[in-house]
Amino acid sequence: MRILITNDDGIYSPGIAALARIAQKFGEVKVVAPDVEQSSMGHAVTHSRPLSYKKSPINFEGIEAHRVNGTPADCVALGTHMWSQTDVVLSGINLGPNLGNSMWHSGTLAGAKQAVLLGIKGIALSTPVGKDEPKFDALEPYVEKVLALLLQDKHLGLFNVNFPQKPTGMMWTRQSVQFYDGKIVPGIDPMGRKHYWSTVIPLDPAEEGSDRWAVENNKVSITPLRLDLTNETLLSSLQSSHPLD
Ligand code: MN
Repeated sequence: MRILITNDDGIYSPGIAALARIAQKFGEVKVVAPDVEQSSMGHAVTHSRPLSYKKSPINFEGIEAHRVNGTPADCVALGTHMWSQTDVVLSGINLGPNLGNSMWHSGTLAGAKQAVLLGIKGIALSTPVGKDEPKFDALEPYVEKVLALLLQDKHLGLFNVNFPQKPTGMMWTRQSVQFYDGKIVPGIDPMGRKHYWSTVIPLDPAEEGSDRWAVENNKVSITPLRLDLTNETLLSSLQSSHPLD
């Protein structure tokens, strides 16, 4: 199996090193990842300047790795172009969760989504960060279980996986969709100029069975996703209530 690995934290993140190491148990691994952090860049693609890559063996022992001056979606487009017949793209392991509404701006998930747009299975993997770096050695058995489960399925699919810091099990979940959790907080810089922080504020309690609920309850959350955003119920209702010529 040919496994292409990317992330949005940049090629020097400990999360991508851990994922590449674990993924080697499942097949041939190559890494194509952004040269600098691209977190919260969503599914941005670079179209107004050329992309280039450099060999980047630091962080990866015995694995071919390249850093790209682009976004996670760029890395997947370029990586699958350079390495034909990629079977699956893994994106992560992100330093920080990608639950609920954060899927909309996640660069980690965008790496997996870009794979699916190109007809390749895509799996995004994320974990919360406390005061210290995540303990990837402790997560390894669960990362392995998730990969064993999702890689054996021959169907094309898009999956968003979130690991709690200390997993006690795994759950199939749905995306928690509540009011958006972004908030702008104004501040003053040392020169006395106004500036603004884009922050996250706590939401209502998570719905049972959702991705947020799973991670809050120390379960690994696996959410199957789709790219089609069409509201099918509303579409049928509009087609009958407001037929168009
Ligand atoms: Mn990130």
